[in-house]
Amino acid sequence: MKKIEVNNLTKIFGAHPQQGLKRLKNGEQKEDILAKTGMTVGVNQASFSVEPGEFFVIMGLSGSGKSTLIRLINRLIEPTDGEVLIDGQDITKMDKNELIKARREKLGMVFQQFGLFPHRTVLENVAYGLEIQGVKKEERSKRAQKSIEDVGLQGYEKSYPKELSGGMQQRVGLARALANDSDILLMDEAFSALDPLIRKEMQDELLNLQSKLGKTILFITHDLDEALKLGDRIAIMKNGEIVQVGTADEILENPANEYVSNFVKDVDRSKVLMASHVMKKPIVHMADKSGALAAVKKMEDAGVSSIFVVDKNNNFQGLLTIDDAIKAYKESAPIGEVLIKDIQSISPDTPLNDLFGIAVEAKYPLAVIKDEKLLGIVSRVSILSGLVLGKDEVAAV
Ligand code: ADP
Ligand code: MG
Repeated sequence: MKKIEVNNLTKIFGAHPQQGLKRLKNGEQKEDILAKTGMTVGVNQASFSVEPGEFFVIMGLSGSGKSTLIRLINRLIEPTDGEVLIDGQDITKMDKNELIKARREKLGMVFQQFGLFPHRTVLENVAYGLEIQGVKKEERSKRAQKSIEDVGLQGYEKSYPKELSGGMQQRVGLARALANDSDILLMDEAFSALDPLIRKEMQDELLNLQSKLGKTILFITHDLDEALKLGDRIAIMKNGEIVQVGTADEILENPANEYVSNFVKDVDRSKVLMASHVMKKPIVHMADKSGALAAVKKMEDAGVSSIFVVDKNNNFQGLLTIDDAIKAYKESAPIGEVLIKDIQSISPDTPLNDLFGIAVEAKYPLAVIKDEKLLGIVSRVSILSGLVLGKDEVAAV
């Protein structure tokens, strides 16, 4: 099942939204509706879905409807039309109590304005959501403490927001959303106010956290680089409409229209694109949890002949080939004994340019690793095909 499914979602601001909706459905443009009726189309018949554990980015210029869309998803504002399914349940049809419960359990939100309480300490800020849910003090401190550690703020529990830098304040905002332990994080321009270096640090951290905690993230930005870096897939919005959804590669290679190509035209793919942009989620095997037979089954299901092995903290252990897995199974040997450990690993910010040489030499998919964590894999074919199928040649075929 999809984690989030948005169908034909529309929001019209103004006195007679249903009349505006009729106009929209008759094909009238946002500008015309504004000129004729004074009503603003915030979101125009948007449809998309997000997989569990996916990092989904919504990108668009200011005013394109990103914030409206995300607020419709947790129903901070009421839609004019359409539906929003969270784990298959339509949030637009919930009564007040169901909505409160769904927000608590499923939808954490991080804003650009950090929204911290100045007179509460970091710990109290992070525990706030739990407090209003009536979670007992000891329990909420424990959970708040854990998410403070997850975002790297241990030692600052007793500090007040004004004593922290912008980046650290945003970490508090993130920790507060994490403390609720919702499956989904909604992040509206969460890093846009941060200095470039801090911002980069936060992006890396968020990728790390996501691979560790497995959250589904819906992340809004107006910044293309940020979108390319973070998104498993990216939706591009214009005038309230979603004009394209795709992976970074798909969007750079095949912009759906002029609006998108204007966005991406200055991007030199091989210079700007890094391993983190082209990497895919690896199929992994957790060595602590199960043995060789389970690994063989997983490879069979996925139609692959090798699998990356990690421990429960997602620390990279090595590569297991199907032959070695079968050998280990027959000999009842632990997987650890047959792992290939000296495989080529690359850091997430290795430029695509540098990957060509590495991929030619490599025997297996490249493991993207940071701080020993396996962030993703880059298949050799995805790199090497670019060497022979240059853009021009592809166009000529
Ligand atoms: P973004 O987040 O992409 O910058 P928004 O979702 O904030 O865009 O805004 C989309 C459109 O909806 C804009 O034209 C904006 O002026 C309009 N809009 C947003 N909120 C309201 C509101 N509460 N009342 C009227 N118009 C609004
Ligand atoms: Mg906005």
